[in-house]
Amino acid sequence: MPKPVVVGNWKMNTTIGEAVELVSRVKDSLEDLLDIETVLCPPFVSLASVSKVISSSSIKLGAQNMYHEDQGAYTGEISAKMLQELCDYVILGHSERRRIFNEDDEFIGRKIQSALNVGLRPILCVGEDSTQREMGDVEAIVTRQLQQSLQSISEPNNLVIAYEPVWAIGTGMAATPDDASAAIAAIRRVVYELYGPTSEEIPFLYGGSVTSTNVSQFVEIPNIDGVLVGSASLIAREFLDIAFRTFKAKVKGN
Ligand code: PEP
Repeated sequence: MPKPVVVGNWKMNTTIGEAVELVSRVKDSLEDLLDIETVLCPPFVSLASVSKVISSSSIKLGAQNMYHEDQGAYTGEISAKMLQELCDYVILGHSERRRIFNEDDEFIGRKIQSALNVGLRPILCVGEDSTQREMGDVEAIVTRQLQQSLQSISEPNNLVIAYEPVWAIGTGMAATPDDASAAIAAIRRVVYELYGPTSEEIPFLYGGSVTSTNVSQFVEIPNIDGVLVGSASLIAREFLDIAFRTFKAKVKGN
């Protein structure tokens, strides 16, 4: 069984000062939740400052994106090699990057490989949009995303996979726990077909309008190993509550 994971994706929010303030407010309480992995993903410019605040704690740092080349003439980009000095995780394939920046599965696959090469743990996001959902294509969409982005990845050990239905992100309309569980079961099947029993070490998360009010419904389901949280991770009290409820469901067993 993988360790439960709670990820906070701060997206393009917080100045450096605000990021330091936010991490300072959650640090002490998150540190007490040793049996779950808590990961904070602030904007690039705040990584170094947040890293200093959590340096002696169990809290992990993640980036929200990266480019697959190690270095060179790629103005504005950040490589896995650069992140690896500061971070343990990197979010890849987030639907906002797929939709706004036209990232496709093959491109995301190159980033995954590059992250794994330097020991970063990629948090690969997959999920269907509202039209695909209406057409009943959830399983086909996540299957295609996984098969294409993971096609050249032979070693899945450090992967984390998040099911994030696009229509649920930032909308306040979370998936039902049953639908999230069914999609994650389908995702697990695809990943098992690719990697066999090794895939059982991968944490599978749900993301999309998770709050302190609905998180327990997701993390009480055995095949959901944790959550990826956007908006609610910007409110210290909310994020702590989400992490605590995950700890309670997964570690204390109720
Ligand atoms: C996300 O950004 O990955 C996300 C799940 O956002 P939100 O929790 O706001 O829906």
